This record gives sequence, structure tokens and C-alpha cells, in this order.
Amino acid sequence: VSGISGISKETILSLYPVTATKIYMNLGQPDVINKYLDLPFDGIGLMRIEFIVSEWIKYHPLYLIKNGKPEVFVDKLAEGISIVASAIYPRPVVVRFSDFKTNEYKRLYGGDEFEPDERNPMLGWRGVSRYISKQYEPAFRLEVKAIRKVREEMGLKNVWVMFPFVRTSWELKKAIEIMEDEGLRRNQEFKVWIMAEVPSVVILADEFSKIVDGYSIGSNDLAQLTLGVDRDSDLLARMGYYDERDPAVLKGIKTLISVAHKYGKTVSICGQAPSVYPEVVEFLVRAGIDSISVNPDAVISVRRQVASVEQKILLEGLSKNKRKS
Ligand code: PEP
Ligand code: MG
Repeated sequence: VSGISGISKETILSLYPVTATKIYMNLGQPDVINKYLDLPFDGIGLMRIEFIVSEWIKYHPLYLIKNGKPEVFVDKLAEGISIVASAIYPRPVVVRFSDFKTNEYKRLYGGDEFEPDERNPMLGWRGVSRYISKQYEPAFRLEVKAIRKVREEMGLKNVWVMFPFVRTSWELKKAIEIMEDEGLRRNQEFKVWIMAEVPSVVILADEFSKIVDGYSIGSNDLAQLTLGVDRDSDLLARMGYYDERDPAVLKGIKTLISVAHKYGKTVSICGQAPSVYPEVVEFLVRAGIDSISVNPDAVISVRRQVASVEQKILLEGLSKNKRKS
């Protein structure tokens, strides 16, 4: 039984159309999950942990390590993740390792000492480049320990992980090695995804598909980097340059899906685009995406739309066959 109304998850899902494409939800604040349990979602396709770090933990992880208190980070992070994972069990929760930029890390208590000044943090020391660096690696290990605690000690095996801002396969292999060194190994029930948000991942999808179980398209960053447009620039946005529906972005998405599927890997999307543009939802379903992860307020409308597009595709196939016979 789940949800404020006490209706079971199965009943909730049965009130809405069945879809072949899974509908996931994006989440940042663990405790709000209780508000959303009546929504028809199949899992959490993106659980951001930045809120837990900045609002619950508040300290820079390296500061805690230096002061002999690493368990504060591990325990609080594990607590936040477990709230969500137990509330929606056995549906999956894809936890994304931290993706703060240096300027954001600096704002955490004690962060000043550990964070360099960067001209362009958006393109700087973020994502996997942090985890494999000498300086941050001990902090990345705390993130992995928290995931391990949730899966092994708390028994919540529905927790998977996702690496953000992957640029190269060599850095990803190193990060996976560190994760495995902490006792977290990829297997049938522990999936390892990466965000497809730097165009190199799309261009070299053949290579990445041999290392991971799946992808989630970060259309916010993928649009920024494909189009060379600062996603925070109001000026460029007003001029119409920042647009996830740009044909170059959509072509990248389509390419990724077809290459990933060649290797039997799944593709999801967790950027804003399908939460705000119905035409992107139709495009994704037609391109064969496996799941779509949207903001809580878009779960119902996107599920309905996906169902209607899937039905349209079926009917188009049927009428084509009829013309042939
Ligand atoms: C994205 O880039 O689309 C994404 C979901 O990540 P963030 O917005 O956190 O960079
Ligand atoms: Mg991103």
C-alpha cells in the first residue's frame, strides 16, 4: 500500500493508461516523495543528491573527512536515499552521483579550502573528472559507501547509480574501478547508467555501450554543449538559441537510442525537455526511447500522451499492413 489515499501502487497504475515506455519521475528532495506516491510513475529516473548535500549535510565532504567525521556524510546521504527507495520499493531509484560545480561546492561549509576558482565552472571540474582526481576521490568514495549502505545494510536493492557529466570512456572506467573497489559491482540487479549530456558520449556511443547498462539523456546540458549555448544566458534564450528541440540535439538523441539498442542497452531521458514540450515526447516515443523521466507535475500528462502516441504508432503500422495486403 502506498500514497496518501492508501491506494496500492497497482491500483494507481491501473487508473492510468498502460504504456510500453516507462514513465519515471525526477526527484531532488527525499521527503517530498510522500506527496507524490499517488502519481503513476514506474520509478525515479533521476534522483539528484545535491539537495541532501547542501541542505541536510551542509558541510563540504572533504572538510568532514579532514575533521574525522566522514560518517556524517555517508549516514545522511544514505538516509535521504533510503527514504525514497523504501517508499517506492521495488520500483528503481536511479541515484545520480553529485554534480555540483566548483562555485557550488565552495558554498558548502568548509568548501573554500578545497575548491579552486574556475573561470567557467560549467565546463570545469565537475562530474566524473572530480571522482577520479586525487583531491576529490576520497569524497567520491563516501558517496559510493552511502549507496552501498542503502543496498547492502538496508537491503534496498532497487537503488541503481548514474554518473553525470561523463566526457571520456577512460575517466568512466577509472571511476567504475573506484566504485568496485568500494564493493559496488555492476550486475543484473545493480545497474550502472551514465548521463548522455556531453556530445562525446553520443559520438562514441559504441564504445560507452560496452561499459554501462544504460543512458539517461541530460537534454539541458546536451542542448547547451551541442549548440554551444550557455544554458544560463537569458540573452541567448530570448533570441531562441537555447532550444532542446533544435534538430541537432534531436539527431543526437536519435543516434544514441539506435546505437545503444544495438548493444542491448536502455536509454532514458531526465532533462527538462519532455516535461515542457509535448512534441519532444512524441519524438522520443517514435525514436524508441525506453523510459522518460519527468517532473512530478508532468507525470500524468506525459503518461497519457505517451499512451496515445504508442497507440497511434500501432495503428499506423496496422493500416500500412492493410494497404500492402
Ligand atoms: C541535464 O543536464 O539535462 C540534467 C538533467 O542535469 P542538470 O540539469 O542537473 O545539469
Ligand atoms: Mg546536466
